[in-house]
Order: sequence, then C-alpha cells, then structure tokens
Amino acid sequence: MPKQLFVDFKAVKAAVRIETVLEHYNLLDQFKRAGDSLSGPCPIHKGNNPTQFRVSISKNIWNCFSKCKNGGNVLDFISLMENVNIHAAALRAIEWFGLDPHAVSDSPDDAEDAPAETNGSAPKPAATKPVETPENAAPNKPLKFRLEKLERQHPYLIESRELTLETIIDFGVGYCSKGMMAGRIAIPIHTLDGEVVAYAGRWPGEPPEGTPKYKLPQGFRKALELFNIDRAMKEPAEKQLVIVEGFFGCMALHQHGYRKVVALMGSTMSAAQEEIIRRHTNPDSRVIVMFDEDEAGQTGREDIACRLSKFCFVRVHEFEKPDMQPEHLSADEVNFIVGAEVCAGGAQ
Ligand SMILES: [Zn+2]
Repeated sequence: MPKQLFVDFKAVKAAVRIETVLEHYNLLDQFKRAGDSLSGPCPIHKGNNPTQFRVSISKNIWNCFSKCKNGGNVLDFISLMENVNIHAAALRAIEWFGLDPHAVSDSPDDAEDAPAETNGSAPKPAATKPVETPENAAPNKPLKFRLEKLERQHPYLIESRELTLETIIDFGVGYCSKGMMAGRIAIPIHTLDGEVVAYAGRWPGEPPEGTPKYKLPQGFRKALELFNIDRAMKEPAEKQLVIVEGFFGCMALHQHGYRKVVALMGSTMSAAQEEIIRRHTNPDSRVIVMFDEDEAGQTGREDIACRLSKFCFVRVHEFEKPDMQPEHLSADEVNFIVGAEVCAGGAQ
C-alpha cells in the first residue's frame, strides 16, 4: 500500500540549490555566470537566446524573460521540466539529490522502513520517470558491461591534459569510437566498492556550439557519487582528503603522487556527497577544498567549506592567479600545498 509522504516543501527548497538542479539536467555548461546571477537559454520553452533565462544564486530563484515567462523556485523548475506537480517535484528532488527523507518530511513519526534493494533483475533501460518515494530511492546500478577498445594514447589525454600512460590506464580512461560515448573520452565512475556505475563522456577539446562538454548516461545520478572515492579511501586515514571539482584535476593530483583526492564532478556538493564524506571522516580529519579559481569555484567552495566544517577540519585552497585550476599545479606545488596544510594543522 503506498504510503502518503508529507513533504516539507520549504525544507526541500532550502536544501537544494538551483545550480545543482541545472547541473542535474546537464545545463550548467550552457549558462554564463556574472556575480550572483546565471543566464542562459530557457530550458522550459527550449529557447536559444543566451540571456532570456536568469537565475539569482543567492535567492535560489529563476525567471524566463522570453516566451514562456515562467519563474519561481527550484521546485517550480523541476515541476515544469518534469511536467509533474510540486509534490512529485519535491519527491524527485529528494531522490535525485540524496536528501534525508526524514529531514524534509512533515511527518517525522513515519516508520523507518529500511530501503529495500532488489538485485538480480534484468538490466532496464534508464528510467525516464524516477520512482516517487524516497524509500525506494535506488543507488546507481553497477554497469554490466565495460567499454572495450578505448584509445588510451589519444592526443587529448597525452598532450592537452598531459596525462601519462600510467595514469590513463590507472583511471581506465580513453577515447571511445563506438556507441553512446562515441567521439568522446570515456571516464569510468566507480562507487566506494569499486564498481563502475557510469562512464562520463568528455568532448576532446572545445565542443561545437550546442554540444555539451560532458555527457552522462540518462538516469545516472552523479549527485550520488564521488569520483575516485574508491581509491582515495584506501589511503591512510590521517592523510588529508583533497576535494576538487573535475575529473582531470583529480587525475592530475593523482599523477603527481597525491592520491587521496576526490572530485565532485561539478562545483556544488550534493547532500549525498556530503554524507559520503561525513561517513569517512572524523572530527580530526582534514579536508582541503581545492576548486578552480573562477566564480563558480569561489562560490561553490565557500558553501562546501561551511557545510564540511560542521564535522571536520576544512581548509580552502585559494590560487594566486585567476582561472588557475588544480590541474595546473606542478608536483612540487602539490607537495607544498599538502605539506603546508600538515604544518598548519600541527600548530593548532
Ligand atoms: Zn522560457
């Protein structure tokens, strides 16, 4: 018997940032940031004008100034994108972004049903309609296949990203010439247990207009994963965890010998990602947030540092030059930053 779940809309709205929602739809690449606002083509009426749709990051609201003239909060956005009512939109947000159903529910006395996982069923195509109850919120399913014959020594990896063959093989990345990720660099994403749950596809270079830089499989919820977490957690507990935004920043640090590094796959941290970090840290753990020195990175890292500081030591690494990224660091610089952090910690 389906149980009515009373959702506290206000709590859901407060827990979900509009940027996270745009990222969920892989739309963030099409948006330009200027101070507190984001602007881009309207995803609701599917317009093209890059300034017709505007977001206020601090107010967590959006507006279309063109054809459809819609506007509102994160739930209004999901409701229009999914063509569902606000209640269903809230349930989707809870599931997609891994919110704690009890924290955003109006009925805290709800029986604590353990999530029932069903395994062993035949693989299904990605569901276009997410399940409606957070009790059923499923983790990403391990893939039953591996992309074969990836071209490891692709110039984008070797020359543009300056990865060594060892790193490329270590991370299992390579240029894919067939299938869903054809024409892209396939990057496997592993769970904590080391199972591959998706391949992300990076366009090798600047993509043509209208083509996203990254492609993720439909139905895959990147908000539930942390890139490289399986490897990072094998590193000693006393080592600091470095959190970067992107895949290539993560691979670069790894190549430089610093292996306790994870990537959020974006400049925002989902509640589920926060929970993974919380579970693998203790009050003595040290975390370095090392984001790109641009507006997205600067906004994102403040929020993340604030949230993580509730349960561990957090230090934000600021680069001296604008647009610097973890990927631009030399091995010496990485050692210096991570080493300096140890000294700073020891002095406390
Ligand atoms: Zn519109």
